[in-house]
This record gives sequence, C-alpha cells and structure tokens, in this order.
Amino acid sequence: MGTYVLVTGAGGFIGHHLVKYLVANGYRVRGVDVKHPEYEASPAHEFELLDLRRWDSCLLATRQIEEVYHLAADMGGIGYISASHAEISRNNILINAHILEAARMNGGLRVFFASSACIYPKYRQVTPDVTPLKEEDAFPADPEEGYGWEKLYAEQLCQYFSQDYGLETRIARFHNVYGPLGTYDGGREKAPAALSRKIALARDGDDIEIWGDGKQTRSFMYVGDCVEGIFRIMRSTHRAPLNLGTDRLVSVDDLVDIIAGIAGKKVRKRYNLDKPQGVRGRNSDNRKLREVCNWEPSVPLEEGLRATYLWVESELRRSGRIADVRAEPAARKR
Ligand code: NAD
Repeated sequence: MGTYVLVTGAGGFIGHHLVKYLVANGYRVRGVDVKHPEYEASPAHEFELLDLRRWDSCLLATRQIEEVYHLAADMGGIGYISASHAEISRNNILINAHILEAARMNGGLRVFFASSACIYPKYRQVTPDVTPLKEEDAFPADPEEGYGWEKLYAEQLCQYFSQDYGLETRIARFHNVYGPLGTYDGGREKAPAALSRKIALARDGDDIEIWGDGKQTRSFMYVGDCVEGIFRIMRSTHRAPLNLGTDRLVSVDDLVDIIAGIAGKKVRKRYNLDKPQGVRGRNSDNRKLREVCNWEPSVPLEEGLRATYLWVESELRRSGRIADVRAEPAARKR
C-alpha cells in the first residue's frame, strides 16, 4: 500500500473529499475527527474519533504516519465565526500547536496546513471591486477577528517549526470552498450552500433573505479543485503560504442569480443589513500558485454550483423538507 497519511478533519467537508481523493490515488489513509462524515461513509482505511485539542489524541493520531494533511478546525460560515471568537481561537490554537508538535515528535512528518483567506488584512478588502490579494499582502496584519488571527498565527507556527526543527510544512490559504456534501443548514454553513438551501425551499416568485446588501464580493472554488490543489501544494517544494482559490470575483447577488437560474426559479432578494457579511470584497491573486504548481482551479462556477444545488435539493427532498413535486423542475432541466 502507498504512503501512510493522516487526514485531520476527515469527518468534515473538505477533509472527507480529500480522503476520497487520496484513497483513489493509492494512499493508505487514516482519518481522524470528532465525528464521522455526515452524508456518506468515509472510505478511509482507518477512521478514529479523537479530540485533537488533546495532546494525547494528537500523538495517537500521528503514530506511524508519514504525512499529515491537517484540516481539523472549529469553523463555520460568517454567522458562526463572527459570534464565537474566544471558543474558535482557543480550540484551534490547541489543535494546531499539538498537531505540529506531535508530527515533529513522530519523526518530522511533512505537514499540510489549511489556512484561510480570512488572514488577509481588513484594510485591503474595503470595496467590492477589490484588488486580488497577493500572498505578501498579509502584512501588516489586520485579519478577521478570532478565526483569521488564529489562522495567521498558525501559519507562523508552521514556519517556526520549519526553521527551528526542519519540519517540512506546506500552507494553503483557501478562498471560499463550496460543493456537495458540505454543511447546508444549522448555522455553520457558507453562502453557496445557504443560498442553495434557501432557493431550493422557495417557491417560484418567493422572497429569500440575503445577508448584507448583496454587493459584497468573493471568489469561490469548487471542492474538487481544492483537493487537487492541496495535493499539488503538498508535493511542491514551496514552504511559504500560497493562495488556493479562483480569481473570478462575483457578488452575492450574482451568486443568487446563478443558483436561481440553475433551480429554474425567480426569487426576490430581501436584504438583511443586520446580519454579518464579512469584508466588502475579496479575491485571490493566483500568480504564485500558477508559478509553483503550474496549475490553478478551473471548475466553472456555474458547473460547481449546479452540482452543489442539486445535491442540497436532493438532501432536502430526502429529509422531507421539500415535496418531490417542487423539486422536479430543477431535476428535469439538467
Ligand atoms: P468542516 O467544519 O466541515 O471540517 C472541519 C472538521 O474539523 C469538522 O469535521 C470538525 O468536526 C473537525 N474538528 C473540529 N474540532 C475538532 C477537534 N477538536 N478534534 C478533531 N476534529 C475536530 O470545515 P471545512 O470547510 O471542511 O474546512 C476544512 C479546513 O479548511 C479548516 O481548517 C478550515 O478552517 C479551512 N478552510 C475552509 C474554507 C472553506 O471555504 N470551507 C475556507 C478557508 C479555510
């Protein structure tokens, strides 16, 4: 069997997709999380339920392992991360410090760290037509409260472990990952999944609630591109942080229109300005990613959103939240 790797956060959205990718590519995979994947069984060769905030769990998780893909984190959409600064920071600081030290103690394993575009300074993201963010734009630091600070510090920690102990670390800053099998309800979901749910539950002509004024912009990356990018960055020799995202900037209004088009519905947007909306605009500058990996994410947003919407819709139908008759038109449109 191939290289023996650990995927932390293997019960989560990206971690689960990554496990599938690595297993399909011949790796021997141990998945670790506090929960199993929610929507389908993990194909990991071993799956262990461990709380990685605990030092002993991190030692157990990394035993005999050759490479660590570290994706476990306490995280969620903008609603969750703006309301839980202390909890997120404490949990993730513990997880990251313990995983790095356990990887070092287990013989200097190569570690991939899942960072985030939330580390970029707020002062560079104040207009919807924002300039794409280059890796070096991270400093002087002014990241997203809580989650962003903690990710930025963990990037630093990876680099300190690399400088002081020779640990091989790879760091990617993900920009808004979406796709099937991701949380779409309950408060931790992100915009593409939340909007897919709202549109799937709406009747033709209904209002749906949009957080903010709809003009805020982002770039979105399909999860299939994300796992391929993780793999390529892990195999590269580049130790400094790299953006991993697309550079197609769209507004939340655009996102709604694309998803409504896929659903074959007309929806009216009702803006709720009291809800958190994060920075005004954020885009990824992919020059360094192209240079290092000779590759960049390429799944068109319309294609990825179609797969996402149809999956969310089928889940809602399966759980009895939409009647078959209302789900029919989108399925037939394919
Ligand atoms: P997710 O919440 O679906 O997955 C994270 C997983 O970590 C969850 O399954 C959770 O149970 C697990 N976890 C949390 N605390 C744990 C603990 N104490 N011990 C063990 N496992 C624990 O999120 P995701 O979208 O799959 O994100 C994966 C990684 O990518 C995270 O590090 C996240 O910060 C990063 N990221 C994601 C995005 C995105 O758009 N999804 C953007 C930027 C960065």
